[in-house]
Amino acid sequence: METKQFKAESKRLLDMMINSIYTHKEIFLREVISNASDAIDKLYFKSLTDTSVGMNKSDFAINLAVDKDKRTLTISDNGIGMTEEDLENNLGTIANSGSFAFKKDNDLGDDVDIIGQFGVGFYSTFMVAKEVTVVTKAYGSEQAYKWQSNGVDGYTVEPCEKEDGVGTTITLLMKDDTDDDKYSTYLDEHQIQSLVKKYSDYIRFPIRMEMEHTHYHEGSEEPEVHKAVETLNSMTPIWKKNKNELKEEDYNNFYVEKFFDYEPPITHIHSKNEGICTYDALLYIPARAPFDYYSKDYEKGLQLYSSGVMIMEKCADLLPDYFSFVKGVVDSEDLSLNISRELLQHDRQLKMIEKNLEKAIKNELKKLMKNDREKYEKFFKVFGLQFKFGIYQSYGAANEMLQDLLMFPSSFEGKNVTLDEYVERMKEDQKNIYYACGESNERIEKLPQLEKVKEKGYEVLYCTQDIDEFALKVLMKYKDKEFKSISDADLDLDTEEEKEQAKKLDEENKDMFEFMQKAIADKVKTVRLSKKLKSHPVCLSSDGGPITIEMEKVLNAMPQNNGEKVKAEKALEINPEHPIFAKLKELFESDKDKLGDYTKLLYDQALLIEGMSIDDPVEFANLVCALMC
Ligand code: ADP
Repeated sequence: METKQFKAESKRLLDMMINSIYTHKEIFLREVISNASDAIDKLYFKSLTDTSVGMNKSDFAINLAVDKDKRTLTISDNGIGMTEEDLENNLGTIANSGSFAFKKDNDLGDDVDIIGQFGVGFYSTFMVAKEVTVVTKAYGSEQAYKWQSNGVDGYTVEPCEKEDGVGTTITLLMKDDTDDDKYSTYLDEHQIQSLVKKYSDYIRFPIRMEMEHTHYHEGSEEPEVHKAVETLNSMTPIWKKNKNELKEEDYNNFYVEKFFDYEPPITHIHSKNEGICTYDALLYIPARAPFDYYSKDYEKGLQLYSSGVMIMEKCADLLPDYFSFVKGVVDSEDLSLNISRELLQHDRQLKMIEKNLEKAIKNELKKLMKNDREKYEKFFKVFGLQFKFGIYQSYGAANEMLQDLLMFPSSFEGKNVTLDEYVERMKEDQKNIYYACGESNERIEKLPQLEKVKEKGYEVLYCTQDIDEFALKVLMKYKDKEFKSISDADLDLDTEEEKEQAKKLDEENKDMFEFMQKAIADKVKTVRLSKKLKSHPVCLSSDGGPITIEMEKVLNAMPQNNGEKVKAEKALEINPEHPIFAKLKELFESDKDKLGDYTKLLYDQALLIEGMSIDDPVEFANLVCALMC
């Protein structure tokens, strides 16, 4: 018989499994049981719409059996089974394992986390077994096949007999015990029973095993040994159970196992709804983003069940994009079993469930923010970006839903602040919510424009993510307070008197500013006196127009603009308190050429302060040198 080799990437994973020092080798059992359950699900689902299957729900089961002498554990199911081709595709390679490809490409090293991280499934059997045999007969097929492998030398597939009909039987020949690893424990019925309870209790089909119980009777030396087939799992899906029956640990175990995460979730939401729309939902907010979360490969969605039967693996319509990180299960008896995807989209019940869940998620997050700030901040660091995109992409429709979930670092103690907290502690005379953009808190703190706002004692939100200002522009206001960038032309900081005075000074120097503007005519719209600088000589301001300086930076950094650059309308602002101002005035009288050069230099400096590149670095260098010589 021909021995076939595993696909290269499968082989690497297999090597890892065989030599695994993974402390949770026991998870192999939950993996095979979960495969068996999926296979039964498929056939059961078929049986509901196709009477020729000829099976009732109560006919389906997963059977476990041990043979201590032969050192084997057998797991059999009467699910959909596999054809010869399925065997090749599913067990000869890691089917659809995008996660593994990622791991390989990024070469994160052979750490063992991959096991917990990606639910490597079937291959985990090689952590405990030295030989694995799969005998399977697919639904609708006459021929059964046997797949066998010791993991190392590839695998064989051959036709065989299977007496007990359609389904799959997996036999694991356990490795020999070593000082560190006692594989014999997986041949102990009570040990197996407790593993099933721990990991697979919610499986909806009975997991059965013949259990041995020993009784000692009074007056009799000989113990009486009782053997009986028992169902090991409670079969009620966790989301159908009562909340008071469940411990945090139960919720977390279910999550880790079902959604292939190795970290427990930040929190869960278990909601039961009765009335016009009846459903049970168990949702989780993960503690970390899946590796592909911020890529186009990530698929959002909740598992959708109808009366306990899974009808869709990832129902995207149940989650808005801004909550796409949520994982979970929704089970509703109101949904029809064989509803198509297209119809589902228009289903009123589903829409109602979606609205309810959305509210529940928001409430849970607000609760977390209030009761466990540290946890919320951790969460926000990972997923907060979604909320900002959500606000921006919905053109304001999601403002209500999301604005209270936002957080920004701020000029007060560098801590994160919510918009509500900001408004609560605004100064009495403060009219706006101020924000500043830059690539990091440290850079923002050095911005000249910030000085005067800070001097007033006003708090400033630090916007360090590209999307920030776009989102704030869509929000426009929070509790009737307008958002104002510290790069805006007018910061609304001055008293009437100060305004008067500034106007006068502007008027007096009108001619000089016009001259200066002409010297850098293609770059700025106006040159004017600054009302927001304190000790710094210059800065750039946005001068009206829909695009701010920060947006110019962000948009021009994006690849999809076909090389077309956008441009914010800018003003060059000069600080009248700075000695440079007197110098400029002097040059305006005595040496206009030099004033032109100085204007260019000041403009370039303002660009550098903004974190933008200057148009002509050579000219800049020459002008500086001319000053130095
Ligand atoms: P996963 O379950 O994550 O897809 P596995 O490696 O556990 O990965 O299994 C690979 C595939 O093999 C499954 O998707 C399924 O198609 C098939 N398979 C595994 N066990 C069974 C089984 N008991 N009955 C039918 N098909 C199975």
